[in-house]
Amino acid sequence: MTDHVLVCRPRLPDADRLLPYLRLIDGTRWYTNFGPLARRFETRLAALIGTPAHAVRSASSGTAALELAIMATAGPAREARPYALVPSLTFAATALAAERMGYRPWIVDVDPESWALDPNALADHPALDRTGVIVPVAACGRAPDMAALERLARATGVPVVLDAAAAAEAFLSGDAHVSATVPAVLSLHATKAFSTGEGGAVLWDDPDGQERVTRAANFGFDGGREATAPGTNAKLSEYHAAVGLAMLDGLEARQSEIAAVVRAYERAARDLPQAWRLHLPPDVGSAYVICETDGPEASQALEGALRAGRIETRRWYEAGLGAQPHFARCPRDPLPASEDIAARLIGLPMAPDLDSGAIARIGRVAGAAMAGSSAR
Ligand SMILES: *Cc1c(COP(=O)(O)O)cnc(C)c1O
Repeated sequence: MTDHVLVCRPRLPDADRLLPYLRLIDGTRWYTNFGPLARRFETRLAALIGTPAHAVRSASSGTAALELAIMATAGPAREARPYALVPSLTFAATALAAERMGYRPWIVDVDPESWALDPNALADHPALDRTGVIVPVAACGRAPDMAALERLARATGVPVVLDAAAAAEAFLSGDAHVSATVPAVLSLHATKAFSTGEGGAVLWDDPDGQERVTRAANFGFDGGREATAPGTNAKLSEYHAAVGLAMLDGLEARQSEIAAVVRAYERAARDLPQAWRLHLPPDVGSAYVICETDGPEASQALEGALRAGRIETRRWYEAGLGAQPHFARCPRDPLPASEDIAARLIGLPMAPDLDSGAIARIGRVAGAAMAGSSAR
């Protein structure tokens, strides 16, 4: 029996790599609250991205970091501006974070090529004068157009907070820049390419803004122990920072492993129908390989064939926010592109140590699926 291939099989630094950092924690007895390891993690990540140290602030999760960034830019929702514009093609957390800050998500469509909301189309959105924050998404970690998002914020006067949860690599590679006006939020969850286990970060080159992020992450305390602003507890613990530091230590080795997986997928892609597009890192974040089929029937044929071949797939954003029960009553624009694209994006297995034999098998099984369905 062939092995079951999982769609996502995270691999974080092992115990040996963590141990030197854990010993440091034993020595300092400083376990959380902006400890030395969390600070070191932020500083190293900032240096690697090539941005000032103040431009990286860690958080306990990507969702928490989104809430902090919304709090630090737009603040909680006000009566005159109850809406947060969010794209349909995203993970639930984008809209949930806006809700937690008091906003009502207003679901907007995406551009079929970039899979992101179109900043130019939004500049005259009918709900803008009742919108308190715009939360675009770098879908599947694709590089966001930061300059266009900065123009959107400037032209509308509405704060923009980018959900760049899976897009750490776009900032590391320089494909996206850290902005002084538009905070970009990373998830450091285990299923993301760059992880602390659980964790998140706000990338934002605004020292005062980042002070507000830090304050919001620590009960609204401003140095003392009295709340001076809205806040929560969203700090990255020293243990999670240890994982992040060990992850940084192994980043180069990991990048070459991923390059080998990508090359194997490029070979396997020759077995796929011409009408499909395989989106590989660095086009998408390296937690993903996304097969864009040419229609919903093809997607189902692909999923069915891979399932029969013991290969797991995932629709990372399901059918989009617009289709999820909790958001059913949210106001929305027509969502034709989101609905179309969500039905055509199938997540294939990805892991830094996914072996080339399994990848070749994925290509063969996927190719055969389509040969069968087009013969019908
Ligand atoms: C993973 C993800 C999140 C949530 O991040 P957590 O770290 O799991 O809280 C939010 N938005 C998108 C687009 C994601 O992919």
